Amino acid sequence: MAYAITQTCCADASCVSVCPVNCIHPAPGEPDFGSTDMLYVDPRACIDCGACADACPVDAIFPVDALTASLAGYSEINASYYAGREPAPDPSPNFHPWGPPVFTRTIPSDFAPLDVAVVGTGPAGMYAVEDLLLHTNSRVTLIDRLPVAGGLVRYGVAPDHASTKKIGETFARFHSHPRLRMRLGVEVGSDFTVEQLAARHDAVIYAVGASSARPLGIPGEELPGSVAATALVAWYNGHPDVAADTIDLSAERVVVVGTGNVALDVARILTADPATLRGTSIAPEALARLESSKVREVVLLARRGPETAAYTGPELLALRERDLVVDAHDAEVLAAIAEGTGKAGLLRGVPTEPVGWSAPPPDGRRRIVLRFHSAPAAILGDTQVRGVRTASGDEITAGQVVSAVGQRGTPLPGLPFDEDSGTIPHTGGRVRPGTYVVGWIKRGPSGGIGANRTCARETVSSLLEDAIAGRLNH
Ligand SMILES: Cc1cc2nc3c(=O)[nH]c(=O)nc-3n(C[C@H](O)[C@H](O)[C@H](O)COP(=O)(O)OP(=O)(O)OC[C@H]3O[C@@H](n4cnc5c(N)ncnc54)[C@H](O)[C@@H]3O)c2cc1C
Ligand code: SF4
Ligand code: SF4
Repeated sequence: MAYAITQTCCADASCVSVCPVNCIHPAPGEPDFGSTDMLYVDPRACIDCGACADACPVDAIFPVDALTASLAGYSEINASYYAGREPAPDPSPNFHPWGPPVFTRTIPSDFAPLDVAVVGTGPAGMYAVEDLLLHTNSRVTLIDRLPVAGGLVRYGVAPDHASTKKIGETFARFHSHPRLRMRLGVEVGSDFTVEQLAARHDAVIYAVGASSARPLGIPGEELPGSVAATALVAWYNGHPDVAADTIDLSAERVVVVGTGNVALDVARILTADPATLRGTSIAPEALARLESSKVREVVLLARRGPETAAYTGPELLALRERDLVVDAHDAEVLAAIAEGTGKAGLLRGVPTEPVGWSAPPPDGRRRIVLRFHSAPAAILGDTQVRGVRTASGDEITAGQVVSAVGQRGTPLPGLPFDEDSGTIPHTGGRVRPGTYVVGWIKRGPSGGIGANRTCARETVSSLLEDAIAGRLNH
């Protein structure tokens, strides 16, 4: 028997340092770290101690023989990461690397506490807060424009990912830290300027995320019935900026443009049995609308083929529990799936069929259709969306179009901004001495929750370097 890591893993590596036999990889510092969908337990070395399961903030780790039917495949997924790899040469506990001590981040003990403002209570802001509170004697003012903390953990992560949302509890432990002051409902840029905040603190870290939707840039995008995934996600999570009647579920077919994990979240929620969402964090108004929803089919429209789809493997596997079909309109797509090229192999065994787009969806269970090699060329309709025309000229009738083609940051007056990437330019998280960035506003909108941990460490290191070098107004 062994333990296995499962779908909700956000790769924050909390489990790596507690494993006594160093059998969880890729670990921070290893070449693959940050590029795999998740971390994996080597079943050849695991000694079943359970330490990793206790340390995981999102309940992603289970003994293999306790995996539920829907997670059973993760035993094989963990093992296959190690296929063809030698076992770690030295399975000695990795928390006892007795070498010379390295204290590169220590600031002198007579250094007066820094006053640092962190703007944004999402994962990036909270990992920065954690680093500052646990590893320095700084006093932190934590600011967010919303009255509820959590960023995308609260208002982005889908309500059926209850384990992932649990990481919010780990972050919330710091809200009552004696050296932390919370200022919720305060927006930098309107309640305070960047300059005012800088004048009142030794340093300011901006962790403001990338909340605006990238446009599709095609005709018809402004029609009623065409919405961004950011709005739909905010709607089902009860975001205060989005009205409860924003989303209309009176059409039978919805087209979602994009195949990233956010597109998959939207498809999963729109086709879920509402009973399975009761008791989750879903907004009550959204649940009521889903209960009377007419949606019977969600079509995910992908510009490219299944070998380069944007979703991660664990998220696609979660979708396979639904009624999932691949549109067989293109022989190349079917060949890629059969050959298992790149991510296409994940679709082996998923039914394929030629889908008729001018007719309403077939009766039966709500289903999800993946249609590859189909860039949208126009959203059709006069006063309301009635479908999508693809670049190859096919018309797909639909009453709602959701664009899930990515997000971008928004400029903050007083800070530089790169329009192309939608991020704030920086070097190692430093915008200028005293001003720093972390998370999606620094790296752009990619990477799960755990990726923000390494990102925050780099930013806090730059801040401390400036403090020690006397570059802050301290
Ligand atoms: C829909 C969706 C679902 C996701 N699901 C998962 C998942 O299941 N698992 C996973 O690992 N990752 C998931 N992610 C990715 C994960 O959420 C991100 O990696 C992470 O949230 C980025 O963190 P951040 O702190 O940079 O931004 P955010 O989480 O967006 O936090 C930014 C915060 O800054 C605040 N803010 C913005 N502007 C201002 C201002 N001017 N003044 C004051 N406050 C401000 C905002 O209110 C917000 O609280 C998902 C992302 C999205 C979009
Ligand atoms: S159960 Fe113990 S030995 Fe196995 S991966 Fe987890 S921490 Fe490592
Ligand atoms: S979420 Fe973190 S602690 Fe949990 S399995 Fe993934 S890397 Fe390990």
